[in-house]
Amino acid sequence: MQHVEAASLEVSGVELAFGSNKVLRGVDLAVPAGRTACVVGPSGSGKSTLLRAINRLLEPDAGDVKLGGESVLRGDPDVLRRRIGMVFQHFNLFPHKSVLDNITLPLRKIKKLDTESAQAAAREQLELVGLAHKATARPGNLSGGQQQRVAIARALAMKPEVMLFDEATSALDPELVKGVLALMADLAGAGMTMVVVTHEMGFAREVADQVAFMDEGVVVESGVPEQIFGAAESPRLRQFLSQVL
Ligand code: ADP
Ligand code: MG
Repeated sequence: MQHVEAASLEVSGVELAFGSNKVLRGVDLAVPAGRTACVVGPSGSGKSTLLRAINRLLEPDAGDVKLGGESVLRGDPDVLRRRIGMVFQHFNLFPHKSVLDNITLPLRKIKKLDTESAQAAAREQLELVGLAHKATARPGNLSGGQQQRVAIARALAMKPEVMLFDEATSALDPELVKGVLALMADLAGAGMTMVVVTHEMGFAREVADQVAFMDEGVVVESGVPEQIFGAAESPRLRQFLSQVL
């Protein structure tokens, strides 16, 4: 994995409601530059909504999100999305475009690179995720694990300062999970700032610098993996862990 220029991420007091449903009720999460935070918690606790609020796919009702110490809630959301990469459970690749075109498209549209530079950058990223030989393939002809590595390559080609992963391995067949987690671990090792929503407790334990447990729209408890997995204080976290471990 190449060297990355990562920034710190600070979420403070973020609130967000869908109509009368208050989904985020004051979320706090601070990730120093180059560190990885895993976010765990029950279904419906607001994890995906939190990631969407961080890169302004959804606009928070209150609170602040800072990247490298500067608030990103004002200003152009497209500028922000150049700086924050996101990887989804279902890859979200364009099915009718080649793997290479999937990666060059945002480089040309958002970063305004010319075709040649975009293709060079895309090929470099494909090489790094071990899929240079699939450049001309359609996503549908790749395994789920390969598709997710393409989605990661697409995000990394933008040279983001933070990467968000929303259950990136939940849709994969079990035998394909390892390869994607290994790539994510490499990226963490290369110094990317990452927020990883995951059910993979082994990954959280081994790769995370910090684990945050979310329930009902707040971070109930956070700490180093040893604390969360070995000495959880909150009864709700203890109950959650007893169900997933
Ligand atoms: P998690 O990712 O932890 O499973 P989500 O953030 O997806 O949780 O969802 C939290 C809550 O927000 C759920 O009650 C869900 O129904 C609601 N929700 C999520 N997205 C939307 C949306 N686009 N419109 C309305 N409600 C939503
Ligand atoms: Mg979710």
